[in-house]
Amino acid sequence: MGRRAAVCTVLFLLVAVGSSPLATAGAEERGPDFRPRLRLLWTDLAGAASFVFPFASQEAAAILEEAGIAVEWTIAAPARVTVEDEVRVLILEEPSRAVMTRATMGCTRRGTRTAWIYLSNVLWSLGLREGGGRGLLGREQDEAGRALGRVVAHEIVHVLAPGLGHSPHGLMASRLSRTLLAGNRVSLTAREAAAARAGAGILAASRDASPRAVDVALEEARAPRHPRR
Ligand SMILES: [Zn+2]
Repeated sequence: MGRRAAVCTVLFLLVAVGSSPLATAGAEERGPDFRPRLRLLWTDLAGAASFVFPFASQEAAAILEEAGIAVEWTIAAPARVTVEDEVRVLILEEPSRAVMTRATMGCTRRGTRTAWIYLSNVLWSLGLREGGGRGLLGREQDEAGRALGRVVAHEIVHVLAPGLGHSPHGLMASRLSRTLLAGNRVSLTAREAAAARAGAGILAASRDASPRAVDVALEEARAPRHPRR
């Protein structure tokens, strides 16, 4: 562990910044006990990430539910269309060349409801063997799933609250250490949680306002060309 591990596992989480239709107020009108339902689609383009789904989905849901968001996961094929109130979590092996760096574990792009997550880089950041989990011990798979779930939660907050930006410390920092990825427990701050919850409320409200199904799978499959930290 020690210095070498800390240096090797620092990562950048890239995010497009700017305004978004989701970044408006309104969800709090339903009262402090209102828990917006967030529908998440898990799409495994890497084709080898099923082993992390149990822990990753549980970890991301726990973080978001602590923030007052009711999470509903669905495993979805790439061809599955997304509707207005859904957010897709795309698991890829590694970033495209446009954002290629070993430290990039996830990113989002302005105006989309997609979080791109890079499995190999999560494993690398943990110092685990790559290759889709083959050869990992059970506890290593659990660790990978938990870490990936935290990256998912980070990116989902960006999708829900694109105007929030990064925080100096914690889960929403621009760089996450292995300690944070593999530690016992992480939470969003009250400010981060409120922003994510408001965004989830607006997204949930869009279900009735715009029930039209939109197939953005092909667009989603292309990694962001110009993400910004
Ligand atoms: Zn970020």
